[in-house]
Amino acid sequence: MLPGLAAGLLLILAGSPAGALTLQFDYSFDALGFFDDQARRDRLEAAGNLIGGLLLDDLDAITPGGVNSWNAVFFDPATGLQTSVADLVVPADTLIVYAGGRDLPGTAIGEGGPGGFSGGGFQSFLDTLNSRGEPGALANPETDFGPWGGSITFDTLTTWNFDAGLPGAGENDFLSVALHELTHLLGFGIPIVDSWQNLVDAASASCATGTEFLGANAIAENAGTLCLETDGGHWEEGTQSVAGPSPQEAALDPTLTVGTRKLLTDLDLAGLQDMGWVVVPEPATLALLALGTAWLGARRRR
Ligand SMILES: [Zn+2]
Repeated sequence: MLPGLAAGLLLILAGSPAGALTLQFDYSFDALGFFDDQARRDRLEAAGNLIGGLLLDDLDAITPGGVNSWNAVFFDPATGLQTSVADLVVPADTLIVYAGGRDLPGTAIGEGGPGGFSGGGFQSFLDTLNSRGEPGALANPETDFGPWGGSITFDTLTTWNFDAGLPGAGENDFLSVALHELTHLLGFGIPIVDSWQNLVDAASASCATGTEFLGANAIAENAGTLCLETDGGHWEEGTQSVAGPSPQEAALDPTLTVGTRKLLTDLDLAGLQDMGWVVVPEPATLALLALGTAWLGARRRR
């Protein structure tokens, strides 16, 4: 029985790496009831677990009180207008995500981004608001990003696939769009996030778009010049990478083909790593398995 027990333990370790982040969803601004259906919340939270499980940052808690007071500022998912919540309490290693739906303009089916803030109090509290304890977020130039969270919204008039399984013909895959928008919430492609924008060369002669990404991890993953869309917010349309063992168009190019699913690729994760997120290294899984095998072998010899 012992080998079976050990194998089970390994699976648990592999599925929930120590230090993973929690994406805590809040539906209190979902005035149009897009997420009234539990199945939709389940799929969004599955996307949150997928992303949170890949990130190992140690984010400090935001704990207002006394002279330390702040407002979390974000776009109301039901209206698109700026709104705020006073003295939001944010647990350690947690991002708060306000989620909702509305009729998005044009062909957009999702939107997401990090929130901002205003606040006052001790310098240590202001530093936490600015960085969540990530030193690179206070450095000059900034090399890291430690937000409290943000908001995401989904188009109410889109034909969605909310299932865990793959979308059918004519369906837009909700899980794919949630993963894409939550990655924007982490600051990917957001011009006001310096640890991203510092890596964008908007006068590149190497890219037809004129915009190139300079992050070392993503360049290495791409094995060469890595072009962004003109706005610097996405990889160039059609950029390829791998998701697990499978070749796939990167999740953070601008589009999702109807009837298909896209998971985060190695390139998407390398981009997050370049802007300061601590991404679960792929080799760690192998090291963990090797360690587990050795431990199992030792137990068997007894
Ligand atoms: Zn996008």
